[in-house]
Amino acid sequence: MTEDLETPRKPRVGELTFDEPRRRKPPRHLADLTAAERREAVVALGLPAFRADQVSRHYFTRLSNDPSEWSDVPAAQRDQIATELTPALMSPVRELTCDEGMTRKTVWRLFDGALVESVLMRYPGRVTMCVSSQAGCGMNCPFCATGQAGLTRNMSTAEIVEQVVAGARTIASGVVPGGPARVSNVVFMGMGEPMANYKSVVGAVRRLVEKSPGGLGMSARGITVSTVGLVPRMHELATEGLPVTLALSLHAPDDELRDTLVPVNTRWKVTEVLDAAWDYARITGRRVSIEYALIKDVNDQAWRAELLAKRLRGKLVHVNLIPLNPTPGSKWTASRPEDEREFVRRLEAGGVAVTVRDTRGREIDGACGQLAAAE
Ligand code: SAH
Repeated sequence: MTEDLETPRKPRVGELTFDEPRRRKPPRHLADLTAAERREAVVALGLPAFRADQVSRHYFTRLSNDPSEWSDVPAAQRDQIATELTPALMSPVRELTCDEGMTRKTVWRLFDGALVESVLMRYPGRVTMCVSSQAGCGMNCPFCATGQAGLTRNMSTAEIVEQVVAGARTIASGVVPGGPARVSNVVFMGMGEPMANYKSVVGAVRRLVEKSPGGLGMSARGITVSTVGLVPRMHELATEGLPVTLALSLHAPDDELRDTLVPVNTRWKVTEVLDAAWDYARITGRRVSIEYALIKDVNDQAWRAELLAKRLRGKLVHVNLIPLNPTPGSKWTASRPEDEREFVRRLEAGGVAVTVRDTRGREIDGACGQLAAAE
């Protein structure tokens, strides 16, 4: 019976029109709003403006969204403010842990049933949260699990921020071996193409870097936004005054192969996407990360390493090689160790800084490109 109450009513035939949004929007949350907008929202409730800062501090600094803990807010006002500004945005469906408890993946159900995943990773001296920016993804890269099911919808700013706050709560609670700590890094490398949900993603980055009570007070240097290479959005991001690290998922140095591995390449070619990356580096002063998943006998040939080195030489750039995490049913696998070594050697010989990414979270399908939220 209770199930029935939660099942949305089926629309009548002809009820939906093209200008009506098909889906309801995620609930509005204080993390969607600037500090000034939060004050306005509180005043609209007939409450003093400073309550907005108090509640923001509870959410971002004390990581509390439980009104019963807001002892500086009169009890009679707590539920009213909570309903208005800290509605529940997501609930955990599944938690999976590996790497001796140092990697934790959470599958979240959003208000409309959409599923997304986030991954908390503890390293010596740093804690990284990998977050989703869309439920699903429309970019259709054939080697990526998220790409296979297509795009469900964009996430709101607060839904993105909430993943980081949830991770911050977990790592602060001490359940992860190594004792309580803070989230130092956020990577937009979960489900979705961040640049295809630009406004919400930039809003989320602002909340992450804003000082208390506006936001989490993180350093922009610890934040990485990863993209398939939506060139106009890369140019726009460079002008936001947010010196985040830009990661470009290149995966091939030549258009012929990149057209198939990253289909959006048919719209913006390798030269164009690299120019946008250099533009980003010039404007922000930040070194760009080039992501390159090494796929056996597909993109791991020595000549491609040389071509890649030639295209990157002399630039403010770092290459991140990711051994392919095979997705279910995929015909592709990770490169042979000797081919990987040779690829690294040719890049280094070409004067390009390179590291091979670890494969954290593999056993729980929480590694790069494995997030699929199949429930
Ligand atoms: N849409 C963004 C962020 C998504 S994932 C982007 O494409 O950049 C983050 C990184 O994981 C991207 O570089 C993506 O290409 C890579 N990736 C996707 N599937 C992978 C897989 N199966 N193995 C290794 N890396 C993968």
